[in-house]
Amino acid sequence: GQGAAVVTAVALRLAAQRREVDQLLAPLRLSRADLERVQALMRREMELGLGLESHASASVRMLPTYVRGTPDGTERGEFLALDLGGTNFRVLVVRVAQDGIRMASEIYVIPTAVTQGTGEELFNHIIECIMDFQLKQNLMEQVLPLGFTFSFPCQQLGLDKVRGRLCWTKGFSASGCVGQDVVQLLREAAQRKQHLGLKVVAVVNDTVGTMMSCGYDDPKCEIGLIVGTGTNACYMEEMRNVGTVEGEQGRMCINMEWGAFGDNGCLDDIFTDFDRLVDEKTINAGKQRFEKLISGMYLGEIVRHILLALVEKQLLFRGKPCPKLQTRDIFQTKFLSTIEIDGLALRQVRAILQDLELQASFEDSLLVQKVCQTVSLRAAQLCAAGLAAVVEKMRENRGSAQLAVTVGVDGTLYKMHPRFSQHLQQMLRDLAPNCTVTFLQSEDGSGKGAALVAAVACRRAEP
Ligand code: BGC
Ligand code: MG
Repeated sequence: GQGAAVVTAVALRLAAQRREVDQLLAPLRLSRADLERVQALMRREMELGLGLESHASASVRMLPTYVRGTPDGTERGEFLALDLGGTNFRVLVVRVAQDGIRMASEIYVIPTAVTQGTGEELFNHIIECIMDFQLKQNLMEQVLPLGFTFSFPCQQLGLDKVRGRLCWTKGFSASGCVGQDVVQLLREAAQRKQHLGLKVVAVVNDTVGTMMSCGYDDPKCEIGLIVGTGTNACYMEEMRNVGTVEGEQGRMCINMEWGAFGDNGCLDDIFTDFDRLVDEKTINAGKQRFEKLISGMYLGEIVRHILLALVEKQLLFRGKPCPKLQTRDIFQTKFLSTIEIDGLALRQVRAILQDLELQASFEDSLLVQKVCQTVSLRAAQLCAAGLAAVVEKMRENRGSAQLAVTVGVDGTLYKMHPRFSQHLQQMLRDLAPNCTVTFLQSEDGSGKGAALVAAVACRRAEP
């Protein structure tokens, strides 16, 4: 009768809606073949980045770090360490002794006005934080060697020699720094503040700091991975393959700067309209395109743009315009982590959305959850494709059929998201079946690693 006809009509409408949603999300779903292609492209970019002639044209910069080995346990001494470029700025004092490592640290907030102001202000602020820390720790009278974890791309000529070519990522844009030597910027700021006891002995990327820090506990740890505000990886490469540094013997840690993978257009067919919208609105449009598919600073924005498209197509919130959803960065990645928690009741999802002034029905909540899952799954799988290229290269380098290696990993997204690490590891096993990869979470950040690099540097400087 009529009742049945209405039920059928509703069912048909729902099915049509579901098809429309699937169509909209389809470009974000990567096939196994897509991921294999990403892996192969990453491998090619790695080779280009390592080659002396091809280096300039590679999107993955493959920066030599002058770190020649992971810790061997004989490192000793007392060091200052700085950690700039993640969620927080940290100053640490690290004591490396025979019976282990002890640290004390302090977190300092750097206001956006400072990260996006002038370089002079930024480095002045850093020196002020160091002085505050030294005062609190009673370290004013000592000149401790300092290891600087600087989580941005910059080209090095030695452990403490930065040739410059610094560029900012992750929302930093302090003026007058691009192309400069960070160590010099820090020294100049110290002079301005009449702080005379600064002895920078090593600059390290956070990936390197993380690898070293985890390497202190696990000698198999020869890869460092960050999935936080930004994303990047480093690993131990054979010197004979590093065309950009002289010498053939032994190994050197390479800071890949894989966040920039795809900046030359090689990933263009992976990017969706949502990715393009996100990229256009950043302060570094066209840059760090791989990072913008993966890391915490951007996933919430991708989700927001998808939700907007769903509203426009009348598939979400009954098509009612949501002014709050127009606001950039309103949908933070930490919401994404919460919304995806297993067994989270849908009314809790609804409450989160309500906080954003979004009136969600039961179906709306389900759909938002699905969008979040799609975006974070893609991020984890792309990260796996990148890592698969790294472990496979290491395995081939060593001419072995099998490789067992540990990845030291850090970053808020990796640590806080309920599914990310699981998806990453699963996909990696799939893409690199001949490698057994263990993940070791770094518990105390990359500052400890910077101190270990500083320790090696100081030992080498001794007569
Ligand atoms: C930077 C890398 C850093 C990564 C993780 C990226 O934006 O370019 O140097 O390692 O973020 O913090
Ligand atoms: Mg960090």
